Amino acid sequence: GEDNRIARISSAIRVIPNFPKPGILFQDITTLLLDPKAFKDTIDLFVERYKDKEISVVAGIEARGFIFGPPIALAIGAKFVPMRKPKKLPGEVISEEYSLEYGTDKIEMHVGAVESGERALIIDDLIATGGTLSAAIRLLERVGVKVVECACVIELPELEGRKRLGDKPLFVLVEAA
Ligand code: AMP
Repeated sequence: GEDNRIARISSAIRVIPNFPKPGILFQDITTLLLDPKAFKDTIDLFVERYKDKEISVVAGIEARGFIFGPPIALAIGAKFVPMRKPKKLPGEVISEEYSLEYGTDKIEMHVGAVESGERALIIDDLIATGGTLSAAIRLLERVGVKVVECACVIELPELEGRKRLGDKPLFVLVEAA
């Protein structure tokens, strides 16, 4: 059943304290990728949820959204669009800034990758403060795309990143401390 799948996914994620800096509990999904059954269950759970939602775009956030996004896009018959860190995309881009604990960061998308009126799902491995996903939502909405939902493997609920997404729905498989 679904609960079994979630339990397997949850136990396949390795938690590494104090990475990349003291006080951070890093949720490492590379161990999930080493378990083909748990990795497939992860993709299947997203595909089951999104296959009949008329989604034409799966937007994946660099870097770990590039691991989960493409198999979902292929399975539901949608295009995959990478949302990248600054200065990685060679064509004309639009970008959105978001705030970090100290300073700001930016994500970029190719102009012309999506058309006004398309329906998008945004994928990342994890939501912490929600800054990254909120910037991705703004980027897509600026070009007239309807963001149907954001989806992550893991949520850190204590950081209340969900609140930063406004009324945009967020779907997650696993909640972590
Ligand atoms: P945020 O914008 O604060 O929601 O941060 C989300 C992004 O940072 C995602 O792309 C995650 O991969 C990464 N991230 C933040 N916190 C963690 C964590 N504790 N473990 C693993 N990745 C994290």
